[in-house]
Amino acid sequence: MTRIIIGEKAGFCFGVKRAVDTALAAASEHGRVYTLGPLIHNKDVISELREKGVIPVDDPRDAEGCIVIRSHGVPESTYREIAELGLKCVDATCPYVERIHRTVAKYSSEGSDVLVCGDKEHPEVIGILGYARGRAEAVRNVSELNELINSDKSFGAKSLIVVVQTTFDMCKWTDLQEIIKKHYTNPQIFDTICRATADRQSEAHALAKECDAMIVIGGWHSSNSRKLADICVEQCTTVFIENAGGLEGGNRELLTRLLSSSNDVKIGITAGASTPAYIIKEVHRIMSEIIKDEAVDAEFAAAIDQMERVRVYTGQRVKATVVAVNKTEAVVDIGTKHSGYIPAEDLSADPSVAPEDAVKVGDVIDCVVTKINDAEGYVYLSKKQVDAQQGMEKIVKAKEENATVEGTVTNIVKGGVMVTSKDGARVFVPASQSGVPRNGKLEELQGKQVGFKVIEVNEGRGRVVGSIKAAEKEATDAVKAKFWDELEVGKKFIGEVKSMESYGVFVDLGGVDGMVHLTELTWNRVKHPKEVVNIGDKLEVTVKSYDPEKKRVSLTAKKPEDNPWTKFMNEFALDDVVKVQVVSITPFGAFAQIIPGVDGLIHISQISKERVTNVAQVLSVGQIVEAKITEIDEEKSRVSLSMKALIEGGDDEAEAEEAPAEE
Ligand code: SF4
Repeated sequence: MTRIIIGEKAGFCFGVKRAVDTALAAASEHGRVYTLGPLIHNKDVISELREKGVIPVDDPRDAEGCIVIRSHGVPESTYREIAELGLKCVDATCPYVERIHRTVAKYSSEGSDVLVCGDKEHPEVIGILGYARGRAEAVRNVSELNELINSDKSFGAKSLIVVVQTTFDMCKWTDLQEIIKKHYTNPQIFDTICRATADRQSEAHALAKECDAMIVIGGWHSSNSRKLADICVEQCTTVFIENAGGLEGGNRELLTRLLSSSNDVKIGITAGASTPAYIIKEVHRIMSEIIKDEAVDAEFAAAIDQMERVRVYTGQRVKATVVAVNKTEAVVDIGTKHSGYIPAEDLSADPSVAPEDAVKVGDVIDCVVTKINDAEGYVYLSKKQVDAQQGMEKIVKAKEENATVEGTVTNIVKGGVMVTSKDGARVFVPASQSGVPRNGKLEELQGKQVGFKVIEVNEGRGRVVGSIKAAEKEATDAVKAKFWDELEVGKKFIGEVKSMESYGVFVDLGGVDGMVHLTELTWNRVKHPKEVVNIGDKLEVTVKSYDPEKKRVSLTAKKPEDNPWTKFMNEFALDDVVKVQVVSITPFGAFAQIIPGVDGLIHISQISKERVTNVAQVLSVGQIVEAKITEIDEEKSRVSLSMKALIEGGDDEAEAEEAPAEE
């Protein structure tokens, strides 16, 4: 019996579907959008897209308003050009291609030459080459590689990374790798062939092997469709068509002849990544006319149905809409006939998060297919894996941009701690990078929210190393820079006394220490800072002066309103008689405290009517005496006192002596 078998992996790949959906959404938002080159290699779809407002242009200067980058990606410089033209840019570059861009940018900026195995005229390869910071070459086969090796000995001599066009031929890739490994010293090879492409090619090969004829549907300009045709033609009669119209004329005759040769003909159908399902259905309609066999029709319809069921594959990323959530799982719709389930343990990296807290009905989430049961019609998916993958992508980006990532310390492990980033990536922070001092306890970090810098990423092994210390240093440096920027004389702070010396104290002003000299601690006379402050005290201080170069700040804790001289001037006047306490004895007289902070001098000649030759024989420290204020020098803040003026007849002889007074 004649049979038609449709490849399960035929048609739109994830990246192309995403680009088409993105462009259509942008067109519906903006009315009209432009794509740089055709969005996909299928003229029917391009016409349909054009009708919906998605217009292909070859040059950004021909676009207006909004431009959509297709799944192939573009060189980095194109984004700049788009921005300079003032156009809005919607980026539908396939994430798998984006990953190659990042790899090339990273390694080439570290000094590696870049070898791209692919067609240097293919837009994806042009885009990839546009991310190289240094030398980059593309080769499409062994002879081009040998030519490069023989003509340029310096290329890759120091360091080489190799990537491959996502839709490249697997056999050619294997051959090229063999030569690369032989010729170059320690090349870093990244197998970036897209699994969707590889799987479709393997399936086409197997299908063509068991069929009498293959129909390959795809655009003439689509390299992945042409590759499918190349694979099939080596196994059986193959027709390569862009759409159902291709089944007319010679192709129709060929197929009719084949069908009439036997009652047991097997015809396989596969389609390139740019072929939508409705074109495959149209091919079916024409095939039905040709075959005129109701039974085949039924089988074909079943095949189409089956194709739609299995248009997912393990490892595929899909968008899923949550339709129900219970304690053990979330039920999702992934747009096929499958029932989708995300078990609780696959919803979140945090086992303590309940399904109802992880997702809500109506949420549209990214998932990866982990298991398919076509017989029963269900698939299992994981949101956790996508979160981790996205988390890793964000981690790689954070490393490139030296950004600080937020996370929570989830475990204390041998030699450091594990931090889970907000996006689910697990990061190891060595003890030396934890910010905990050598004799400190790492356990104190358990459960804490921390910021960290990414210092090492091994995407292949999924290993990330971070540094909390580096993030803390950056934050501290930023605080310090802001402090010095905003510092000015007269600025007030409330700081903590961090340390004490005999000449003053050091006060933490919020990351920067300032110094309060002993004489600036208080208006009163003190011999040691400990008489007025303790370490840990909060002190209100004012900036007296600062030197940003030497990173020095001089502070005062004295407040103008507490100035004892002001108080003295308000409360005392010339000729007032005051009770004073002797605070020090000198050869020329005694200093006596009038009020705390203001001492007056009783000159040796003003102590008594009698001649005094030794002050200490008449007065002693601590003694309280009465004296008259005989002079106030406001400018110099000095007071002269006289005991003699209070003795009968002594006033006439009193000679006020001007001498230094101390506040
Ligand atoms: S073939 Fe693979 S890499 Fe290319 S667009 Fe499709 S999913 Fe992306």
